[in-house]
Amino acid sequence: MNEDPAGRAELGKRSVRDLPVAEGDRVLVRVDFNVPLKDGQVTDDARIRAALPTIELLREKGARLILCSHLGRPDGRDPETSLQPASDRLGELIEGSVHQAPDVIGPQVRSGAQRLEPGEVLVLENTRWERGETDNDPDLAKQLASVADAYVCDAFGSVHRAHASTAGVAELLPSAAGLLLEREVTTLRGIIEEPERPLVVVLGGAKVTDKIALIDRFLDEADALLIGGAMCFSFFRAQDKPTGDSLVEDDDVESARKALEGAEDRRARLLLPLDLVAGTEFSADTEVTQLEDTDVPDGLMGLDVGPRTAEAYAEEIAKAGTVFWNGPMGAFELEPFAAGTRAVAEAVAEAPGTTVVGGGDSASAMAEFGLADRVDHLSTGGGAALELLEGRELPGLEALDDA
Ligand code: ADP
Ligand code: MG
Repeated sequence: MNEDPAGRAELGKRSVRDLPVAEGDRVLVRVDFNVPLKDGQVTDDARIRAALPTIELLREKGARLILCSHLGRPDGRDPETSLQPASDRLGELIEGSVHQAPDVIGPQVRSGAQRLEPGEVLVLENTRWERGETDNDPDLAKQLASVADAYVCDAFGSVHRAHASTAGVAELLPSAAGLLLEREVTTLRGIIEEPERPLVVVLGGAKVTDKIALIDRFLDEADALLIGGAMCFSFFRAQDKPTGDSLVEDDDVESARKALEGAEDRRARLLLPLDLVAGTEFSADTEVTQLEDTDVPDGLMGLDVGPRTAEAYAEEIAKAGTVFWNGPMGAFELEPFAAGTRAVAEAVAEAPGTTVVGGGDSASAMAEFGLADRVDHLSTGGGAALELLEGRELPGLEALDDA
């Protein structure tokens, strides 16, 4: 991993490095421990590892650490979504002791926070067990703030939401951005503000409408915009091409039509697939048909880009000064339709330019292919990364003290 990729932008917010923390101060840290669990075990600890630099920095300063995070989407208290497995894993990764609180707020949390020794960590329970979290309830924010002297946000994956544990509590304490948040924001902003050119953006995934704002922005900011995944069918439908039984939604066709209108006059070259791989159903056992071009006959659905597309996209990626990739090129969970996504993942891994992969399914694909450490920056936040690149304000970031 390149520690300092070219083209970093300014953070504009106080960094945790500059937060005055005296030995013994209590620091509340919002982390993103929204990790996948199976049978009470963390199956992918990447997000916990990503928070370690900030945790270690604060422990070195002698802080008593109180960590909080959401996990999943529980509606109230739900033991299935306890932070316990995450705090167990954290305890294996750091040398200090890690305690798990039984609640998010309340008397047990207060006494747990009181008992902490410098360098020790208390992990609060899942913030979404409190209904006030998602409404940014001022009382919940106040109770969270009451256990600490300062607040650090390192949960990049959650800063696009104005919740009590993000924006709410940041207003009530001296605050700063953690090292992960800082790296995410400066790297992603750098793509828009000062990319090494050419800037090549590869977008895939399911819905055009989810990414239309991004497509629109990159048509002006990028040099080439490469489209793959199910979203290409909405573009083909907008061009009146046959898409067979491929995944197409009406609102996506409208979005695609808008992107195509006047595309020639924008900065970026817009590239669509040249060939496809199809099946009769969304299944790994379906009969696989290689299509010479992108016309999909009735009875078939396009499930991956074909080899000519993969090669053309790989060439663009190889020539790029900066690459940003978000969204798989096909239904990569199904082995017969993983080749297009794998080819793009390999091209990104090999690319000499600065490479950034957005969170979500493209980040999982990178990890699954064993290439995660071959990119300069693998974002930990799907929605947050897209909103930042669209140019939207991130409430959890805005609420932090300015630099
Ligand atoms: P991301 O999470 O990276 O933003 P999305 O969630 O938008 O990406 O899309 C990922 C999903 O799109 C995957 O589950 C993948 O199977 C699906 N997908 C990609 N291409 C196709 C296709 N041609 N047909 C059906 N589903 C597809
Ligand atoms: Mg997704």
